[in-house]
Amino acid sequence: MSQLRLDPLTGRWIVISLDRADRPTDFAHRQLAVEADPDRPCPFCPGHEESTPPALETYGPRGDWLVRVVPNRFPAFSGNEPMVVDHLGPVFTQAPASGIHEVLVLTPEHGASFADLSDAHAGLVVAAIRDRLAEHSAVPGLRYSQAIVNAGREAGASLVHPHGQLLAMSFIPREISDEQAGFARFEGSCLLCTTIEAEEAVGHRVVLSDDHVLVVCPYWSATAYEMLVIPRAHEAHLHYATPSEATAVGRAVRTALQLIRERLGDIAYNVVFHAAPYRSEGVFHWHVHLLPKVTTQAGFELGTGVPINICPPEVAADELRAVGASV
Ligand SMILES: [Zn+2]
Ligand SMILES: [Zn+2]
Ligand SMILES: [Zn+2]
Repeated sequence: MSQLRLDPLTGRWIVISLDRADRPTDFAHRQLAVEADPDRPCPFCPGHEESTPPALETYGPRGDWLVRVVPNRFPAFSGNEPMVVDHLGPVFTQAPASGIHEVLVLTPEHGASFADLSDAHAGLVVAAIRDRLAEHSAVPGLRYSQAIVNAGREAGASLVHPHGQLLAMSFIPREISDEQAGFARFEGSCLLCTTIEAEEAVGHRVVLSDDHVLVVCPYWSATAYEMLVIPRAHEAHLHYATPSEATAVGRAVRTALQLIRERLGDIAYNVVFHAAPYRSEGVFHWHVHLLPKVTTQAGFELGTGVPINICPPEVAADELRAVGASV
């Protein structure tokens, strides 16, 4: 079980995980490589399907799965208690951490990565995310689902086997409400449709481009080599994306991750999918952030929320395009 607690200083909800405290080894293993226990077989490898709860979805030809969605055994969000806020004192505010927490196994291949997937397989990953979000969106009380892929220990992955997570919650998280406010502040049209036009007009921050997707190192990049994957079709909700849009975004994410690997080596990264909250009306345009872990947030960033990016996006885009051309 988990609990939401309100930070009254910032107005942010914090998830306090109560049963993960049973897993002290998580902390003991922090300094070690991912998967420190060689005796425990990988729960995501084919043949070990019974070590996870039964699959919610599988994708792939015949009996062989390529992508598999299972419930998380240690959910950060679970149950369907309504979002009722309890005031236990002037500064103690809590709510149930209701919701859904699923694991998305990206491939049966233990040693592969998102960057190794074929076009069709990468498309299947985003199609699976779309299907799950459509399912989540129909659950009363859920406001938002966060889809992520963490790769590498420094990015928070606890298992080597390539996987992502889908976390559905009963509130709109801060990052999304901040982005909603950004779309609302931008007058006249859609902020990201305008970004596509503006970045294409300038050109030098564009990393990849096809009929469906634009990938840029955004003008406002907060971290080195970060990329923004923007589907060309204006759509607020990822789960309303057409199959061809979803497939194209999967392919673009895969190719962008290949460029990161070519340029920076096998470094840790996070892939973050952002879409409008369920049943929300305002302007939004779904998109994907690719965040290679090149540097760690230090005191200044943590203290001020002001990132210092040591690599201008114009330089990053040049370098990524150059390795793309040579591959
Ligand atoms: Zn495995
Ligand atoms: Zn748009
Ligand atoms: Zn975003």
